[in-house]
Amino acid sequence: MESQTDTGQMEQRKGRRLVLFPLPFQGHINPMLLLATILHSKGFSITIIHTNFNSLNPSNFPNFTFHSIPDGILESEASSKDVVALAKLLNTKCVEPFRDRMVKLLSDVSEEPISCLISDAFFYFTQAVADSLRLPRVVLRTGGLSSFVVFVAFPLLRERGYLPIQDSQLEEPVAELPPLKVKDLPVIDNVDPDSYYEIIAGMVNESKASSGIIWNSFEELERSELDTLRQEFPNPIFPIGPFHKYYLTSSSSSLLDQDQSSISWLDKQAPKSVIYASFGSLAALSEAQFLEISWGLANSNQPFLWVVRPGLVCGSEWLEPLPSGFLDTLNGRAHIIKWAPQLEVLAHPAVGAFWTHNGWNSTLESICEGVPMICMPCFTDQKVNAKYVSQVWKVGLQLENGSDRLEIERCIRRLMVEKEGEEIRDRISKLKDKAKFCLQRGGSSLQNLDSLVSHIFKLES
Ligand code: UDP
Repeated sequence: MESQTDTGQMEQRKGRRLVLFPLPFQGHINPMLLLATILHSKGFSITIIHTNFNSLNPSNFPNFTFHSIPDGILESEASSKDVVALAKLLNTKCVEPFRDRMVKLLSDVSEEPISCLISDAFFYFTQAVADSLRLPRVVLRTGGLSSFVVFVAFPLLRERGYLPIQDSQLEEPVAELPPLKVKDLPVIDNVDPDSYYEIIAGMVNESKASSGIIWNSFEELERSELDTLRQEFPNPIFPIGPFHKYYLTSSSSSLLDQDQSSISWLDKQAPKSVIYASFGSLAALSEAQFLEISWGLANSNQPFLWVVRPGLVCGSEWLEPLPSGFLDTLNGRAHIIKWAPQLEVLAHPAVGAFWTHNGWNSTLESICEGVPMICMPCFTDQKVNAKYVSQVWKVGLQLENGSDRLEIERCIRRLMVEKEGEEIRDRISKLKDKAKFCLQRGGSSLQNLDSLVSHIFKLES
């Protein structure tokens, strides 16, 4: 990965430290730790500051230095389903402990000097802390560029009456952001809208105020959104993804144990026959939705590997809502686990489709393995990602009526059996190639990574 012309710079860089601060959710931790591994390979020393809440395991990353900060998040707050309230709390309660830790790190002369802070975009409070310490701050946005463009447009969408969403307008197009309809706007049901607008504004504005924004995406995937942002934002933008495809030895940053039995089960299935279903680390389903999904999968006649995370179904511990004997009737056609080694699963030749909630990591991981998607977004940027998958890149099908067992069955058949599915598979395999090329010599993401490294180098005071 290291270009020869870099060698001189690399020498100078030795002895420089970066401090990274991930937001403590799985979909934010994974890309931040991968970014740390990429930048470490470029010669930087890495310090990770993390919260006690969803604390990281330093023994998985012996090359990095870890510091945990007391975030003051109560058990009841941590287990709440209200991610907006939790994000707001993290941005208030972490201010003092984070600042104290940064002051200690900056004054520690036994360590290498710190070039900059790299913070998750949703830890927007860190811009003010970095400014007060005269430390440059670069942001990692762990979602896609397409949804970020929509977040940037929130003030306009509110002014023009698209937000807050009215049920009567769901099917109307958002003329300013084609091909989105009102129902695709990245909102969250059942949270306080003002709090949500506040954290989105914090994320957008403090990203704009930062010294640069890093994206786990690649130019060939989101070029027009990149052009839009480069026009609207004064600071440099670095799409250097897909992070997990740099082929550096990277440890797992999974908060849950990944059940390896999924791989031995997949080994016994026919090529491209299995539907892998997983809805990420935060999404929740009602019992009724869960049952429709179970019957849709069962009636599809395809084998399926399903991640049912403990707590996925509201009011249940795990699989209690399934009718008794449900799995027995499927004669080994189903394998249900609590958490999967998702990257290995998607790369397995037996997997033919990914039924996903379209979290950005899952979406990108599916594209990188050329696995077509069935899209069932739950909230926020997932809605925009699902629309791009189904209507812009045309590499998946979106379930339009929530979770209705007949629609599910029909959708699986369209993707796995019918000609439409073949065309979708062709398109995603071309996109997979593009994802591969951008990390080859001269590829866009490697060039952007070189620019990022030079940029960080110039930031030093
Ligand atoms: N993941 C995993 N095992 C699972 C489900 C998910 O390792 O059973 C990983 C997945 O590979 C991805 C992350 O968890 O990197 C989920 O991030 P995403 O943005 O897709 O969704 P979120 O959890 O943030 O909603």
